Amino acid sequence: MPDSALPTSEQSLDPDDWAQARALGRRMIDDATHHLASLREAPVWQPMPDAVRAAFKGGVPVDGQPLEEVYDQFLAQVLPYAMGNKHPRFLAWYMGGSNFTGALADFLAAIDASNLGGGDTAANLVETQVIDWFRQIINLPEGSSGTLTSGGSVANLIGLTVARNVMAGVDVRLDGVAAIQRPLRYYASDQVHHASDKAMGVLGLGERALRKIATGPDLRLDIAALELAIAEDRAAGLQPACVIATAGTVNTGSMDDLRAVRALCDREGLWMHVDGCIGALIAMAPEHRDLVLGIELADSIALDPHKWLQAPFDVGCILVRDGALHRTTFVHHGEYLEERPRGVASGEFLADYGLQLSRGFRALKVWMAIKEHGAARFGRLIDQSIDLAQYLSALIDREPLMERIAPTIINIVTLRFNPGQASEAELRALNIEIMLRLQEQGIAVPSDTTVHGRHCLRVAIVNHRTRRDDLDLLVNEIRRLGREIYSLTGDAQGASA
Ligand SMILES: *Cc1c(COP(=O)(O)O)cnc(C)c1O
Repeated sequence: MPDSALPTSEQSLDPDDWAQARALGRRMIDDATHHLASLREAPVWQPMPDAVRAAFKGGVPVDGQPLEEVYDQFLAQVLPYAMGNKHPRFLAWYMGGSNFTGALADFLAAIDASNLGGGDTAANLVETQVIDWFRQIINLPEGSSGTLTSGGSVANLIGLTVARNVMAGVDVRLDGVAAIQRPLRYYASDQVHHASDKAMGVLGLGERALRKIATGPDLRLDIAALELAIAEDRAAGLQPACVIATAGTVNTGSMDDLRAVRALCDREGLWMHVDGCIGALIAMAPEHRDLVLGIELADSIALDPHKWLQAPFDVGCILVRDGALHRTTFVHHGEYLEERPRGVASGEFLADYGLQLSRGFRALKVWMAIKEHGAARFGRLIDQSIDLAQYLSALIDREPLMERIAPTIINIVTLRFNPGQASEAELRALNIEIMLRLQEQGIAVPSDTTVHGRHCLRVAIVNHRTRRDDLDLLVNEIRRLGREIYSLTGDAQGASA
């Protein structure tokens, strides 16, 4: 760089012209509200043209360009090719639909810019209050602790880590898993989310240390079989440590019997962890909260506000009944991070409750949305999703060419198009093709799964915008596509026979 090109003044990232920056910000808000208001008319998802894909190749931009131009690229190349989970007919996996208040809050959180690792800030108190709200919703006693995480996977990992350290009988923090005398065993039903398998690997216990108990047609944890497994493991010299009960399984939404799991954990002296990433917040729903009775008895509970609470990604939460055990598992203060009686470092160190030191202000999007709408509205929305799943189930039960695969317990429906006579392999191919065409045509986005060996489409009604007519349309389109595809392959088979 020639000397003459060196900056003559000191640099910062602030705009040269704040009035221009403000105008662009306003345009973004205008575009965003228009985008959300017209969502229903847009395709749920659309395939990306090669030209758009190509726009994301290329090296580091050394010289900048006006933010207006970068924003135009976002409008043309990013936003139209979103996942679609904000759309009322996005029914795949298990995701919230986001919300405008949460989007504004994410912006404001960045303006506040606090690091939530700790410190005497209002942001710190916002997170502390949000965690206390979740504690009250779940009905855990005061003195319970919690932390917001990137999502349910890390929330579960934290809960299962506390369980390991408490149950190990040695100081795992200092001496590591090699010091554990008898190998620890964790238990869950075969419907447990793979986040728990991953956690077992990360914890150094190994995925095989999670013993999965086979489920029957109700897809719930079989307490009698669990009891036998525990006895067998004790006899074999292993150390049963923790039961992972699931409140709302990812495959079908089945609910483990939480009170029975608590009673068993008391009898056997085990840690009770609940993976409530799907179902814990049913505790807010006036019509269906009985489904999660007993969740308040758990030792640790993972929940996921970016699912049924509709918070924009990402935010999860772990709650631990005994806050001291939780803190002991993670607390660490370097000499560069001592607490002080006054000043910025006098606030609580939220980083003492998890893996992250620097932490974002995730709490704000939850805090603002719950204040705006009230917990009662969120509870009614959860009831509404469950009622919609019952509505869809009734539609399918009336369809001669469709069947349900598992009981509908909460807001997940498993179904398939089944014209009769087809083999399991043919049904699988047929239903996958139906699913892909629904996605590619922008009509709806269901996902698929396999329940006890039977492949099916899987509809999770989480989005706060989904209505009955969306489900009517879904059933009509599955019927149309199923007939279309099956008559084609049927002809082909006929020709070759
Ligand atoms: C979604 C989910 C998880 C994982 O949570 P993430 O937020 O995706 O990390 C774990 N368990 C269950 C039951 C889930 O539904």
